[in-house]
Amino acid sequence: MTSTAKMGTPIPADPARSRGAALRVATAIAEDVAAQHAHDVDLHARFPIETVDALRGAKLLSTAVSRELGGWGCEFSELTEICTRLARSCASSGMIFAMHTIQVASILNHRGGEGALDRYLRDLARDQRLIASATSEVGTGGDLRRSIAHVESTGTGGDRFRFEKTTTVSSYCEYADDLLLTLRRDAESAAGDQVAVLVQRGEWKLADIGEWNTLGMRGTCSPAARITGEGADPQILPDPFRAVAAVTMVPVSHLLWAAVWLGIAVDATDRARRFLQIKSRKDPDGSTIAANRLAQLSTRLRNMRAQLESEVRSYEERDSAHAAERASEPGTVLALNDLKLSASESVVAIVGEAMQVIGIEAYMNEGEFSLARHLRDAHSAALMINNDRIRATNADLLLVYKGR
Ligand SMILES: Cc1cc2nc3c(=O)[nH]c(=O)nc-3n(C[C@H](O)[C@H](O)[C@H](O)COP(=O)(O)OP(=O)(O)OC[C@H]3O[C@@H](n4cnc5c(N)ncnc54)[C@H](O)[C@@H]3O)c2cc1C
Repeated sequence: MTSTAKMGTPIPADPARSRGAALRVATAIAEDVAAQHAHDVDLHARFPIETVDALRGAKLLSTAVSRELGGWGCEFSELTEICTRLARSCASSGMIFAMHTIQVASILNHRGGEGALDRYLRDLARDQRLIASATSEVGTGGDLRRSIAHVESTGTGGDRFRFEKTTTVSSYCEYADDLLLTLRRDAESAAGDQVAVLVQRGEWKLADIGEWNTLGMRGTCSPAARITGEGADPQILPDPFRAVAAVTMVPVSHLLWAAVWLGIAVDATDRARRFLQIKSRKDPDGSTIAANRLAQLSTRLRNMRAQLESEVRSYEERDSAHAAERASEPGTVLALNDLKLSASESVVAIVGEAMQVIGIEAYMNEGEFSLARHLRDAHSAALMINNDRIRATNADLLLVYKGR
């Protein structure tokens, strides 16, 4: 038996959803919904509400939630494919799905025993709640591993907390149900002694919301904002944030972001190939140089995909009992950082080369062969955790790494 998603795509009603089913539904949403609105989303720097509503309608906001908690329990390779598929049509939509999934995975893997966070994930799967993240902060910028804002204990039994944090960049907060943010453990804690805190709609407020008038990724709607909120202590993830970051948040971010950037690169290459096929039918002799460039592009794209797939396999093969140990091994950190560095640079290079193949039609802001949005979106990749920060980490690690 199937039920029908908002845009008419059949989805399996069975909670034991079959392997690949989520990807098939996401592909239909990407093609029928995200692609249709991508230009308008970019033009007006507006939230891709149609796509997120369709994902919600198809219950795809719980693809990363395990089956016993009511989600799809998708394998990681399927999650990355969904990011790529959405980003081929609309990179902002792919990135929103990726960012939401990173928060879900962080809660899932670090929620401790059965309790409030378990119940939260069940609610998320049932109500299709969207989670945003707030790790960046005025004063620490893109340094994920330092916070200024802190948890302030309140309530008679000291079992509640409140906070105030001013972010520099925080995506789709105005459209999210819930937030996962980093804070110092308490007022006395060092900047690196952080916790991850979940707050739900009604518990937090946004103020002093800035502008999000950027070059690319305009649909992620990620302005600076002052966030105030309160909650109960069980909403604080029991694992220290350093463990959440090392085991889940950073690796999953690098993998899913790379999947989004791959989506941008795939669509740019597709446009270049289609353009050249049409051109070479009319003028077979006049396309040789561009055809060679296209062949080069195809190799680059294949390498980009292969590196991502290889890191996804390594991530899936991690034995959960030794995940923390494995995550902090220099070889693991270096490989994932290299994926982030190389995918963020490859996407810009691939879109640039596709533009060379197509020529002026790619340079147009609109049209079947326009790559303007792709190029602008691609340039965000090196800034999402600045590549210089990642290179600095790799440089330090390489001085102690013993190879393998
Ligand atoms: C599309 C998009 C969506 C985003 N969404 C979110 C979100 O939802 N939530 C969120 O919290 N954040 C989000 N971010 C923020 C992002 O992850 C980074 O934290 C942010 O872009 C960094 O801002 P910055 O470049 O000003 O800061 P920094 O990273 O501080 O970089 C500023 C400059 O300082 C240099 N620098 C500073 N320190 C070092 C160092 N130790 N080593 C080397 N170089 C250094 C950098 O190279 C760079 O030149 C988003 C970013 C983008 C582009």
